[in-house]
Amino acid sequence: MGIGHLAVGLGLKRAAPQISAGWLVLAAFLCDVLLGVFAALGWETWQVPPDYASRHYLMFDFPYSHGLLACMLWSLAAALVALWISGRKRAALVAAIALASHFFLDALVHVRGLPVSGRGSYKIGLALWNHLGVALALEVLMAVAALLLYFQGTRPSGRLGRYGMPVCVAFLTVLLVGGQATSTAVPGARGLILSWILAPLAFSALVFWLDRQRAART
Ligand SMILES: [Zn+2]
Repeated sequence: MGIGHLAVGLGLKRAAPQISAGWLVLAAFLCDVLLGVFAALGWETWQVPPDYASRHYLMFDFPYSHGLLACMLWSLAAALVALWISGRKRAALVAAIALASHFFLDALVHVRGLPVSGRGSYKIGLALWNHLGVALALEVLMAVAALLLYFQGTRPSGRLGRYGMPVCVAFLTVLLVGGQATSTAVPGARGLILSWILAPLAFSALVFWLDRQRAART
């Protein structure tokens, strides 16, 4: 899933106005950053299906970044970091939810491949990507709902604050949803790994900057 992860982070700002939406988006994407790091280290792998041009998705072996047990441990770590930085239990809970949501959203769309624990354990995946139009429509709906929640929780402090976030979310939605729907070829290993690491960091930084142009509603 792509823009759906960003949507979760953005929408959760409503529940924790004291945290930048940029941090929440980073937490919601973190499993993909970890996938990039672990793939670079050779600990996790992926395969390109022979019919990728019609499927538009990859298959993975990624127990440490996307396994249920691993995601829950990363979620616990995110909660502890948020608690340490903010001193607020609510911030810790919201950070944990943002991170844990990655597993459940990916489990919805990925074809059976997210392990419960280790490499040989039972694998989960409801394969909504086999109905790609439905999966991508769901992501667009999530982005719209997230923006509405975000607007309820924040108010603009200027022109950039008013238009920046919706323009950014609309642009990234078109980029990610359109990108997956029309993708017929896969970049090389280096390109994939860099995109898994750098794209979430770039999206989070952009949201972090635009979030500073809005103030939390009290
Ligand atoms: Zn993922």
